[in-house]
Amino acid sequence: MTDRQQTGYHMSPEDFRRHGHALVDWIAAYWQRVESLPVRSRAAPGEVAAALPGSAPERGEPFAAMLEDVERVILPGLTHWQSPNFFAYFPANTSAPSVLGELLAAGLGVQGMLWATSPACTELETRVLDWLAELLGLPAAFRSDGGGGGVIQDSASGAALCALLAARERASDGAANERGCDRRLTAYASTETHSSIEKAVKIAGLGREQLRIIPVDDHFAMDAGALARQMAADVAAGFTPAFVCATVGTTSSTAVDPVAAIAAVARRFGAWLHVDAAMAGSAMICPEFRALQAGVEQADSYCFDPHKWLFTNFDCSCLFVRERGALIRALSVLPEYLRNRASESGAVIDYRDWHVPLGRRFRALKLWFVLRHYGAEGLRHHLREHVRLARWFADQVAVHPDFELAAPVPFNLVCFRHRGGDAGSEALLERLNGSGRLYLTHTRLDGRFTLRLCVGQTHTEASHVEAAWAAIRAAAEGTAAPAG
Ligand SMILES: *Cc1c(COP(=O)(O)O)cnc(C)c1O
Repeated sequence: MTDRQQTGYHMSPEDFRRHGHALVDWIAAYWQRVESLPVRSRAAPGEVAAALPGSAPERGEPFAAMLEDVERVILPGLTHWQSPNFFAYFPANTSAPSVLGELLAAGLGVQGMLWATSPACTELETRVLDWLAELLGLPAAFRSDGGGGGVIQDSASGAALCALLAARERASDGAANERGCDRRLTAYASTETHSSIEKAVKIAGLGREQLRIIPVDDHFAMDAGALARQMAADVAAGFTPAFVCATVGTTSSTAVDPVAAIAAVARRFGAWLHVDAAMAGSAMICPEFRALQAGVEQADSYCFDPHKWLFTNFDCSCLFVRERGALIRALSVLPEYLRNRASESGAVIDYRDWHVPLGRRFRALKLWFVLRHYGAEGLRHHLREHVRLARWFADQVAVHPDFELAAPVPFNLVCFRHRGGDAGSEALLERLNGSGRLYLTHTRLDGRFTLRLCVGQTHTEASHVEAAWAAIRAAAEGTAAPAG
């Protein structure tokens, strides 16, 4: 019998084994050679699309043909986020145990919308998020055995939206659920807060005019005094402060908002405090960083992304809430076809009520594999090493006559400039990224063009950061040379 007679058009178990092993080999080999590939993709717009057929195939093709096209068509169109010379944006790092957990989740293919649809999918997630709350030194109230708990979301953006919806629900005593958003609710963020908060405010129906943008100090951290004055003015004008976002590690420069001072203001005005530690939250596994988020005990919700800097591939964002009731009231609806005895008993968690989608995949598996493979000790080792390398780089910049630091370096991101000004820094960046040897991105701080170097790819080591610094100095000499 041929395979096709046995399995219809499906891939046979034997072929799956064969191709699966080949694919794992391909990934392992990719990780070994990725360092030699140009980090930023050189593909021109439309180039990848032009290499693909205009229609789906009528007849099935062999797996080998797909793998060949991955090599031929896809690879040149990739920016290699897993290159140890990737220093751009924030990392989206991954690791072998994470990829294996992802593969297993796909193979099991369970849909964990309710406890009843796969008890292990829910209970593993609850347990792993409790582990993480403890590892990060978060308040006990954020654990599932307190009044709160954690949930895996698709992104920090989705998590912020859910926190805002819970805050809206709490500030309106449930009226927002019934009659739509009360136009008198206000939300607060700083000039440096991630754009996802503005997006959440739009989606939640508060309206952008109800989002107050608070100024920052000269280290790009929110001015808590200005926040208090704004809230007082809003209350006097008949508004209800409902939500404030404090950031630990802003996207632009990893600035750290004064969480304790912001928490005191939020509490005085009855506003929900969300702490967005999307990237820097991972560092809290190392106790020496926790002073930077002192005051987190007062927060209503906290979010960080293991898919940025905790060796867990995208997507995996963790949202912790102090009081799960507000979140669940904001997001729960119950159609007849989802009714079941376990849910009605109140003895189980149904995570569908903790985020926007109904369906959910088994993302806790990869996080569980990562935590068990590395152990807390292994995670601390690698995070500390990344921070050490970033500080080493910052020290070189600080003493070099042609460069200057543009912001403090509390974690793994260095913001710096060429003293030649915006045009010089911009030309330097293009020259570096065009070389393919490394990839950095930029931001603007105090209105000035600023280069960012973030150390966070899983396999970035001292040699890569040293080579980056050498390349930057060499490119600066080239850039500074008189044109023509
Ligand atoms: C990256 C980032 C986000 C958004 O993260 P997603 O998970 O991609 O939505 C939000 N806040 C901060 C501070 C970030 O750095």
